[in-house]
Amino acid sequence: MKFTTRVLSSRFLKDDPHGSLRMPVYDNAAFEFASAEELELAFLGKNPAHAYSRITNPTVEDLELRIKEGTGAIGVVALSSGMAAIANVIMTIASFGDNIVTTRHLFGNTYSLFENTLKAWGLETRYADFTDLAGVEKHLDGRTKAVFLETITNPQLEVADIRALSDIARERRVPVIADTTLTPPGLFRSGDFGIDIEVISSTKYISGGATSVGGLIIDNGKFDWRANSKLAPDAKKFGPFAFLSRLRREVYRNLGACMSPHSAYLQSLGLETLELRAGAASANAEKLALFLEGARGVKSVNYPGLKSSKYYVTAKEQFGGKFGSLLTFDLASKEECFKLMNGLKILRRATNIQDNRSLVIHPESTIFAEYPDAVKSSMGIRKTTVRISAGIEDADDLIADIKNALEAL
Ligand SMILES: *Cc1c(COP(=O)(O)O)cnc(C)c1O
Repeated sequence: MKFTTRVLSSRFLKDDPHGSLRMPVYDNAAFEFASAEELELAFLGKNPAHAYSRITNPTVEDLELRIKEGTGAIGVVALSSGMAAIANVIMTIASFGDNIVTTRHLFGNTYSLFENTLKAWGLETRYADFTDLAGVEKHLDGRTKAVFLETITNPQLEVADIRALSDIARERRVPVIADTTLTPPGLFRSGDFGIDIEVISSTKYISGGATSVGGLIIDNGKFDWRANSKLAPDAKKFGPFAFLSRLRREVYRNLGACMSPHSAYLQSLGLETLELRAGAASANAEKLALFLEGARGVKSVNYPGLKSSKYYVTAKEQFGGKFGSLLTFDLASKEECFKLMNGLKILRRATNIQDNRSLVIHPESTIFAEYPDAVKSSMGIRKTTVRISAGIEDADDLIADIKNALEAL
């Protein structure tokens, strides 16, 4: 069975007393036990009952289970946001004095998490160029706890050869962690490309149209955690479940960034139409990119689905002919970018991506505003770039809107 069929045919762990087809929202904090003995067993992990919603909750668990069945992963953990998912993964696998290897072409808040928050706790972040793999290996050493990448970087839209990159990591027994937000399950099978742990901002496609904030950690179960000095003792006890066990029993529990049951309900709805919506938005993005490529006043267009993109061949092979909903283009100046944005009537000026509505933003003056010019330029951020996240409206209406705004420049 394919992703959407699996997601829709997933069954509850326990029968619903009313035969509900949809998991109800268990919007409560705590659960009652029939005896003190059963409560003790629950705390010892010997009775798989829910005790407290920060640890587990039936509605959240059902979302996790559906994603697990859809992806074939060995375990899924739902969190309060995509950022919480990234922070929880890194804090589970690394300690003071360790390092991770990534690229400067990262989502802005992820860069800040590595460069500011985790640095203060003794984690070093090393920056390589993932589009030039020859230089990657020299960054890895005995204290490298992860190679971290984004499948399509946001907003540079860079696409690395993920299989080749994960081969390098595997040789050194380092797990590969990928932020797959731009290519979520249903579009991309991360396990086939050597990705060990997937992190996703489910705020995006999975929420079903920007309904709620959420994050996911998906463990493909391929990494041998005996190679990770911190998790080696867990690997002795739990084998391939070493990472999930440490995450659930320590980091996720102690940091408390759990997903709310109501968000899990909304995201469970979104999950069912994920493939449909992502396919439609991806087709729209391709049409917008083709239109912009020939439009007057547009200096360049960046979309991995354009044959002119240097990532076209790699992206096509990895993402099965769907290139996602994000595209960027450059105009002559920041002033032109602002004027264009202000002239749009259908596309909305907002900072999110993968909504059902098409969204537009000027990344340099917003998401990356906190960084000095030199850092912005090392991150591939220009003042002349506009980013569009294509929605699922009619493509002709979107093109007409952009055309009008361009003509007014
Ligand atoms: C939005 C986003 C995040 C952060 O997710 P939140 O749910 O907003 O915390 C991380 N990575 C990428 C690629 C994103 O687009």
